[in-house]
Amino acid sequence: MSITPQFALLGLDQQELTKLAVEKQQPSFRGKQLADAIYRQRVEKLADVTTLPQSLRESLTGEGGEIGWPTILKRFVSQDGTIRYLIGFADGESVETVWMPEGDGGEAGDGTDAYEDRAERHSHEWHRATICVSSQVGCAVNCQFCLTAKLGVQRNLTAGEIAGQVLVVLRDQDVDIATERINLVFMGMGEPFLNYDNFMKAVRLLVSEVGIPESRMTVSTAGIVPRIEDFGREAIRPKLAISLNGSNDEVRESVMPLNRKWDLERLLGAARAFPLRNRERLTFEYVLLDGVNDAPENAREVVRLLNGIRAKVNLIALNPGPDIPYETPRPERVNKFQQILLDADIPVFIRRPRGRDIYAACGQLKRTEELVSLS
Ligand code: SF4
Repeated sequence: MSITPQFALLGLDQQELTKLAVEKQQPSFRGKQLADAIYRQRVEKLADVTTLPQSLRESLTGEGGEIGWPTILKRFVSQDGTIRYLIGFADGESVETVWMPEGDGGEAGDGTDAYEDRAERHSHEWHRATICVSSQVGCAVNCQFCLTAKLGVQRNLTAGEIAGQVLVVLRDQDVDIATERINLVFMGMGEPFLNYDNFMKAVRLLVSEVGIPESRMTVSTAGIVPRIEDFGREAIRPKLAISLNGSNDEVRESVMPLNRKWDLERLLGAARAFPLRNRERLTFEYVLLDGVNDAPENAREVVRLLNGIRAKVNLIALNPGPDIPYETPRPERVNKFQQILLDADIPVFIRRPRGRDIYAACGQLKRTEELVSLS
């Protein structure tokens, strides 16, 4: 039986761990030892951090301290190699985290090209992998094509719970971060920009303590305009993706009610003002819904909207789900939409659906326990 810690060390950065050690009359280098044990060696129990004196370990556990790892409750393995993890936290809540060996093509054209590392030497069967990370239990944004929206929002995740998802998956997959290529996408359950401070702290932990470069991370927002502005000012930040999903306010509002608060003019204004780095592009995600937003005229509107923005577009043909009132467009419609953007010199990629059979694909994360076969 796992014991609920009164305070978790996972989520504290090296400075905070050092402060904790010094408060316990320990030399400050104990902070670095703790950080290394938690984030680099992925030690699960404080008692097993053998670099620390036993007295310090006992003193911390005596006060109810533990590392506080999340628990893998279930694994659903897709025929395409994708794994949907159900990950539980100390209070009994859970989220989903998705492991995608070889990614889903969404990285293409954004400076971390999908297949550029084929020649690297690896001990695993995969050449690179992407982890899709959740930021909240459920989501309040209510995108009409998304199963997570059906849960509502239960609570925000802490920085330790966000970074902890990555750590448990890295350990489960036995990843060596120094030699193997991992991309992170913050596109799982929840809207990261509605849990901004915890999300950003998790990013800093993953960059500084775990050792994953920020250039291999992408965060997707439904369009929380004030936080897009804050995000542009961050010294350490992932790349930005914006869920567009509509080519005019009427269509976007019907698909994403959030558009009433921050309409396309404000959203694209923030996108235009966003300070991109050298060679960086802003990604626009566009879920194609048959007969709703996937007509050639919609594609031409997207071209006009993105005029003047260094952008790339990821197209996602809807991943179906129960009670989702939309259909998946036929491949010809998806290809036609793509061609119109290509003709306007906009880099555009079609994301491969990953793990649809286990409800792991985009918009499908809702902690489904049973496995329903989808045609
Ligand atoms: S698509 Fe993302 S922002 Fe929209 S409801 Fe689903 S989880 Fe929330």
